[in-house]
Amino acid sequence: SDSEDQLFKVILLGEHGVGKSSLARIFGGVEDLQDVEEAGNTYDRSIVVDGEEASLLVFDIWEQDDNHWLHNQCMKMGDAYVIVYSVTDKASFEKASELRIQLRRARQSEDIPIILVGNKSDLVRSREVSVEEGRACAVVFDCKFIETSAALHHNVKDLFEGIVRQIRLRKDSK
Ligand code: GDP
Ligand code: MG
Repeated sequence: SDSEDQLFKVILLGEHGVGKSSLARIFGGVEDLQDVEEAGNTYDRSIVVDGEEASLLVFDIWEQDDNHWLHNQCMKMGDAYVIVYSVTDKASFEKASELRIQLRRARQSEDIPIILVGNKSDLVRSREVSVEEGRACAVVFDCKFIETSAALHHNVKDLFEGIVRQIRLRKDSK
């Protein structure tokens, strides 16, 4: 199918410090750059999901500056969205809801894949958002949900594979 040749644009959204860049770097396989202060980055990689190759272009540019124009572009350009919060930070969870609402407004009639991600699941003792709260929020917002730990690489592969599956599901039903 022609979808094999396509490059899917995935945009990471979320509050500062929740782990967007960590997740993006694991996806891109460039964790060595961890100490580099980058303004924003994109990661281009092909992954095999269910026996079929898919190319993702992951954008970690949301925080590049508090540029209104850039934020509008981000809301328009994605084929899929990853909204990240930290399970150790309730405010980032509330921000995730705001972002979901903004996204819905920007892409009204479109059915775009969105994954809500509760990152830092390894920080058990400083958890402020339960798995149940995360899952319930995803139900309300009609999107997928996964908890990850970039620190432990837990569920990071599943996250990006899940995005590909979500994109394919929608393409197949058209
Ligand atoms: P961003 O601002 O959303 O891009 O977040 P970063 O990826 O820069 O991460 C912010 C801080 O949280 C860094 O010190 C990371 O090392 C740390 N961090 C990110 N993900 C995790 C995680 O899953 N567990 C833990 N314990 N720390 C994390
Ligand atoms: Mg970052």
